Amino acid sequence: MSKDRPIADATRVVAAGRRAEWTQGIVSPPVWRASTHLYGSIAELRANGARDTHHRLFYGRRGSPTQWSLADALTELEPGAEATFLYPSGVAAIAAALLSVLSPGDELLVPDAAYDPTRSMATGLLKRFGIGHRFYDPLIGAGIADLIGPDTRAIFMESPGSLTFEVQDVPAIVAVAKARGITTLLDNTWATPLRFRAIEKGVDLAILAGTKYVVGHSDVMLGSVTAAPSHWRRLRETSFQLGQVSSPDDAWLGSRGLRTMAVRLNQHEQSALKIARWLETRPEVARVLHPALPSCPGHDVFMRDFTGSTGLFSFVLNGGDEAARAALIDALAHFGIGYSWGGFESLAIPADPERHRSATTPDFAGPLVRLQIGLEDPDDLIADLANGLQRFSDVRG
Ligand SMILES: *Cc1c(COP(=O)(O)O)cnc(C)c1O
Repeated sequence: MSKDRPIADATRVVAAGRRAEWTQGIVSPPVWRASTHLYGSIAELRANGARDTHHRLFYGRRGSPTQWSLADALTELEPGAEATFLYPSGVAAIAAALLSVLSPGDELLVPDAAYDPTRSMATGLLKRFGIGHRFYDPLIGAGIADLIGPDTRAIFMESPGSLTFEVQDVPAIVAVAKARGITTLLDNTWATPLRFRAIEKGVDLAILAGTKYVVGHSDVMLGSVTAAPSHWRRLRETSFQLGQVSSPDDAWLGSRGLRTMAVRLNQHEQSALKIARWLETRPEVARVLHPALPSCPGHDVFMRDFTGSTGLFSFVLNGGDEAARAALIDALAHFGIGYSWGGFESLAIPADPERHRSATTPDFAGPLVRLQIGLEDPDDLIADLANGLQRFSDVRG
C-alpha cells in the first residue's frame, strides 16, 4: 500500500477496531458479556490493579474487547485523536464531556441552536453545581472572542445546529479558544467523522450520539466522546467516576452499524439532497434549511470545512398554521412521526425553534418541518411529500 495514498472512509469503517487479539480469528469481535474478570492469583490481581487498565480486563464497568473495539474504531475515524469512551446515550456522552472540563465558578458558552437537552444541562444540572453559561449566536465565528470572560472555561459547539441547521465556523472558534486555553467541545452527530473531522480541526472533545448514524437502525441508544491527546485522561477519569459504561450488546450493535455507515451516509446524502432541491421548487415552501444549499446560514463554511452532507434537514412552510402543518405531516405514508433520526427509515416532525432559543430570534415565513431522509427510494418520498403539501395547501387556504 502506498504511504501517500489516504485510505477512503468506506475502507476505514470496514477495518477500524478489528484488532486480531479481540476478534480471535473471526471477522467481528464477539459479545464479551461480563461483570467479573477472574484472576489466577492474588499476585495477578494486585499486579493488574497497579497497571493502567486501558484496554485491559479489570472489571465490567471498564469494558471488554467488545466495547474497546467500537471505541477504537471511532478513534481511528478521527485522525489526531487519542481515545474514545462510550456512554449509554448521546446525552450521557455530552454530560460526561462537560463534567470532565467544568468546575464550580466556571462559565460555559453554548450555541443558541444546541440540541435542547444540551441547553437543559447548562440551565439545569450545571447551574445547580455553580457553573455559569451564556448562549451565543451560532454564526458568531471569531466574534466569540468578545463573549469570553475571566471565568470562561469551555465553548460548546454543535454544527449544524439542531432544527435550524446553522453551520458554525469551528476553526475560527477553535483558534480563539486555543489562544486563551479554553476547551472546545463539538456535538458532531449530524456530520459524523466521515463528513467533518473534528479533532483534526482542533476540537478537544468530539461527541456523537451513536444512537443516530453509527447504530443506524433505530434500535439502540449509544453515545461516544473522542478526545484529543490533551483531554483523554481527564475524560476517562470523569467517566469512570460517573460509572458510565455501555452494554457489550449495544456496543456490538454499534460496531455492526459502523461497518455500513459510509454507504448508508452516501445514500442518505444523495436522497436528502434530491428531496431538498425538489422542495426548493415548490410554492408551498418558503425556504429549505439544508447545509449544502446556499439558502442555509453558514453554507460557505459548510463548503469549506465539510466533505459532504447527511440526511437530516428542515424546511420552512410558506405561511400556514399548526393545523396546516399537522395536515401535511399526518398525510405522509412513508415518514414516521417520531424523535431521533439516523436510522434506515424516514421521519418527519414539527420543529419549533422559537421554543428553544434565547440569544437569537428565529424569523421564518411559516412553521418548520424537520425531515430525516431514510433509505427508501427518494421518488417515493417525493410523491409522498407532494401529497402532504397538497393537504397543507387545502388546510391553509
Ligand atoms: C439525538 C441527539 C443527541 C442525543 O442523543 P441520545 O442518544 O438520544 O441521548 C445529541 N445531539 C444531537 C444533535 C442529537 O440529535
